[in-house]
Amino acid sequence: MFCFQCEQTAGCTACTGAAGVCGKTADVARLQDDLTGTLVALARAESDGRGDTESDGLMLEGMFACVSNVSFDPKAIAALERRVRAKAISLGEFSSYDMRLLWDAQEDIRSLKSLLLFGMRGVAAYAYHAQALGKSDPVVAAFLYEGMRAVGSDLDMDELLPLVLKCGEVNLAAMAALEEANVSAYGKPEPATVELKVEAGPFIVVTGHDLHDLKQLLEQTEGRGVNVYTHGEMLPANAYPELRKYPHLKGNYGTAWHNQRKEFKDLPAPILWTTNCLLKPDESYADRVFATGPVSFPGAHVVEAGEDGAKDFSALIDKALELGGWDTDRTFAGINGGTSVTTGFGYDTVMSVAPAVIDAVKSGDIKRFILLAGCDGMRKERSYYTDFAKLAPSDSVILTLACGKYRFNDLDLGSIDGIPRLLDVGQCNDAYGAIKIALALADAFGCGVNDLPLSMVLSWYEQKAVCILLTLLHLGIRGIYLGPTLPAFVSPGVLQVLVDNYGIRPISTPEADLAQIMG
Ligand code: SF4
Repeated sequence: MFCFQCEQTAGCTACTGAAGVCGKTADVARLQDDLTGTLVALARAESDGRGDTESDGLMLEGMFACVSNVSFDPKAIAALERRVRAKAISLGEFSSYDMRLLWDAQEDIRSLKSLLLFGMRGVAAYAYHAQALGKSDPVVAAFLYEGMRAVGSDLDMDELLPLVLKCGEVNLAAMAALEEANVSAYGKPEPATVELKVEAGPFIVVTGHDLHDLKQLLEQTEGRGVNVYTHGEMLPANAYPELRKYPHLKGNYGTAWHNQRKEFKDLPAPILWTTNCLLKPDESYADRVFATGPVSFPGAHVVEAGEDGAKDFSALIDKALELGGWDTDRTFAGINGGTSVTTGFGYDTVMSVAPAVIDAVKSGDIKRFILLAGCDGMRKERSYYTDFAKLAPSDSVILTLACGKYRFNDLDLGSIDGIPRLLDVGQCNDAYGAIKIALALADAFGCGVNDLPLSMVLSWYEQKAVCILLTLLHLGIRGIYLGPTLPAFVSPGVLQVLVDNYGIRPISTPEADLAQIMG
């Protein structure tokens, strides 16, 4: 096998051999390559640059199924490849792409095509969630065909670089569509303090990103005596009025995805996986795993959508009733010992206090905003982000999003002039909200984003982080700190382009980076 798409890739180089660090087998890796090659064929078959609804859906599903920690199931991937193949064949001549040509290509070409392909996988994940709520942007679908044709073509660096940046531009549209879909379905997020406590009695833990799945589960558990808790990237669900109105959405259990084995081992409850961030379960809880959407591993209880998109969670609810939960209430703590966290500081909330924020900057009470955001992961060097948050001076405000925040979101960082020093904007896709906040602040101060007292310190793990990084580059944002390691698929030549044009730099130590940022 050959896979180097995520941050935990073996030796910071590539996963080869029988299985990847994530547990993905060589069999699954090969089938994902076959699926990707067949998606190139589908893009070629849609040569007018615009597919039909079925092709669009297959493209999103196929790309999403190849994101890290989504599917470990060879049967599910093979079945999806057959569906894509059948569609491509129905459109005319079938011409699939052999992914070994990409992995064996000259290193800068391989690097740029990988940036494009992995970025598109992230874009597809966001578009998939928006589509579940009936929102799509034709620009996104058209680009996925264009980008996949480019992956399968003989292009040089000058032709590939603009496409990589265009991927970032298109991702902005995908995230905008998802935000619009979420807000119209669930209302504008509002600040919420979320307890890390589980009440006695039956319950279900929901992880992943798909709010539509959570909403359907909340409806179906109403009056059943089963409480629901968020986990990982589902935490910001507690901020949406149309989700928090359900009294049995009780709060959040656990932390980020890589702690699943520890957190789920003795849980007297089933867990629903709605999207990526599935850590291959061990035997202690494999029979309590329910998977839906593109998520899958062999033996999982799979909840399929019906013709109308509705999902029947009755088997999951029955499992929760059977397991019964704990006899007494239990209080848990984040990794720093805090027993509650906050969320819901999206664009509208932050903008509602914009005059106070501007005054605080002008008076010098707030010296700097720091976007400390991105994915969490296993690497011990990620303690950098906890230390950074603890060391950030009291005149700085930290904006965060995605699951990397579990490294520090249970810390009490206090407030400045009534403005909390830690503002959780939401899930990774809510990077769109953070970008809007930055643009609005730049507008208020009459300067460009790069001239704001704002620094970005990002942590990456998988392909959604790749497309968000490309969006920031598309917007011309310079001086991003990236960690905990640089992507293995960025060649020295491509890294030099990113350093020269965007000033990207690897994180060093919290002390040194903070000194540079605050100075
Ligand atoms: Fe390795 Fe990451 Fe690929 Fe898994 S997703 S095989 S850990 S590079």
